[in-house]
Amino acid sequence: SEREGPLLEIVGISKQFKGLRALDEVSLAVGSGEIRGIVGPNGSGKTTLFNVVTGLYKATTGRVVFDGRTVSGASPYRLAQAGMARTFQNLRLFTALSVRENILVALDQTRTRSIWQYLLWPVGVWRRDRALRVGGDALLARFGLTDFADALPGALPYGTQRRVEIARAMAQRPKLLLLDEPAAGLNGEEVRQLSEIVRSIRDSGVTVVLIEHNMGLVMSLCERVTVLASGRIIADGTPAEVAAAPQVIEAYLGD
Ligand code: ADP
Repeated sequence: SEREGPLLEIVGISKQFKGLRALDEVSLAVGSGEIRGIVGPNGSGKTTLFNVVTGLYKATTGRVVFDGRTVSGASPYRLAQAGMARTFQNLRLFTALSVRENILVALDQTRTRSIWQYLLWPVGVWRRDRALRVGGDALLARFGLTDFADALPGALPYGTQRRVEIARAMAQRPKLLLLDEPAAGLNGEEVRQLSEIVRSIRDSGVTVVLIEHNMGLVMSLCERVTVLASGRIIADGTPAEVAAAPQVIEAYLGD
């Protein structure tokens, strides 16, 4: 788009859970077309940050600006419509639907049907919608899933299931894709494939923010890295800059 400024701006976000301050005055900006890494020890607030950005949690203070608009307080559904898509640390695929069906449900823009209608209506209109079918086939091919289209996700290797989840998020045609530990549980070859997929997503014009523990992946894939520790940003910069920062080394030694 022609709009100036970052695609995502997080301004002074804090999130309090009872006695625990999971996020403490976190501010960061992600430029359009960037691949940003969010790293930090366990419990440092990374997933909470995603949950605030995507509307699952309401921030205690601060605001989120997405694509030029203040969106704090908006529902996950509205944020998805505005162009945010995400994956979760634990896979959240429909286990009773095939890979193709998982993607078609996400592609189905009408969103008037409940998951029960998809499940209980096996020869339903949605399956005969040609545009939907063509769009689904394109996504399956793009993410190397054509051969697994009719399989149930649970029957597939973990790395393939992760690709289904990413394909499903991309079915929403997002401007911003948030990936929560996409490399968790993947083998070396699957991590290499993931890296190529994320690059191709960015090259297609989508901004990517990923939480990741695989430092090799973060260092090779991300242009900038933000480091959280105990709910605060302790470093932000290029992978080389943050890797050399004494406060980062210290935070990880204490992990
Ligand atoms: P990370 O993703 O960096 O491992 P999290 O964002 O999951 O960290 O968690 C940050 C802190 O907030 C942790 O201490 C965690 O226990 C706490 N936390 C996260 N979600 C909730 C919640 N819904 N209720 C209470 N505490 C939570």
